[in-house]
Amino acid sequence: MHVEVRGLNKKFGTFQAVKDVEFSIAKGQLIGLLGPSGGGKTSILRMLAGLETPDEGDIVFHGQRVNDLPPQERGIGFVFQNYALFKHMTVAENIAFGLEVKKWPKAKVKERVAELVELTGLKGFESRYPHQLSGGQRQRVAFARALAPEPQLLLLDEPFAAIDAKIRHELRSWLREMIDRLGITSIFVTHDQDEAIEVADEIMIINQGRLEQKGSPWEIYKDPQTPFVAGFIGESTIVEDIASLRGFADAAIWPGTKGLIRPEYIEIGKESEFSLLSATEAGKVKHIHFRGSEWLVEVAVGGIKLVTYRSLEKEVLHPGDAVQVLVHRAYLFNDNDSWVMENK
Ligand code: ATP
Repeated sequence: MHVEVRGLNKKFGTFQAVKDVEFSIAKGQLIGLLGPSGGGKTSILRMLAGLETPDEGDIVFHGQRVNDLPPQERGIGFVFQNYALFKHMTVAENIAFGLEVKKWPKAKVKERVAELVELTGLKGFESRYPHQLSGGQRQRVAFARALAPEPQLLLLDEPFAAIDAKIRHELRSWLREMIDRLGITSIFVTHDQDEAIEVADEIMIINQGRLEQKGSPWEIYKDPQTPFVAGFIGESTIVEDIASLRGFADAAIWPGTKGLIRPEYIEIGKESEFSLLSATEAGKVKHIHFRGSEWLVEVAVGGIKLVTYRSLEKEVLHPGDAVQVLVHRAYLFNDNDSWVMENK
């Protein structure tokens, strides 16, 4: 279902947890709400679900304003971080619960439970209790239970946070596949950027109650609109006064211009690796980490610390090595403007 949110505001006491949030989501999209802890992600999700009342704003599902509808009449499924399964009920009973509340006929409940057990790969586990399942299996029961009443919108609050890293990875691709198959509009909250990038069609970056940016992971990476977004997605360094860096002196005409430099914009090496030294800066290697496919190098240029990658094929660098550093480009920010500047 199509989701539209306009002018959403929410205060807890005097604290403004959600500020003027607006967005729309096309049917069938999987959206990641990403941001630091306390930013307001869960509050937004809970208002969509009807578990929290907005102070201002409209929530519109499929063209209908749902602000005044209780959660059970909004056509949503909700998956919580901590599974929230009924401990004294089997897998099948957990999945059937919502359907029985809605007074589905017994035969239809049975049919639907069998469908979901199949879909979520839980065949053979129908009679087990939650404590007899792994974390990943429990979370799949929680998905099945949320999906059982055929919701039009699936809301997931940090669905993988309580699951260990390896299974989390599998569950992410499983979720992606399932959403594609069902074509159900879904919104999940996460504070893990890798998770959002890997799974979501679009990411909404939420910080201090505001929606800072919405876009595909690639759009957000290559064209961040604020220093916060740029710093939150991908590895990078913010340089407070970019004009102090060689090749970026032109930025001095806009006072207070910050620069964001991603690892891939930087080339480093021994003097002998550069044919032209006029655009490089002298730097010193601070730290170096092996990352499997390359080195991650932290290098100091004057008082500025920059992070970059170095290919495994090149001569190995060591902490303390004197190197040349070439910054090819930077994202520049001042006030409400952002643009890219190439080294010249
Ligand atoms: P996290 O990733 O830690 O879950 P979040 O981005 O989901 O964070 P919210 O849970 O939406 O953030 O909380 C936003 C802010 O609102 C926080 O400062 C939180 O303390 C506050 N808050 C949330 N719910 C309530 C409440 N019921 N009463 C008072 N303050 C609340």
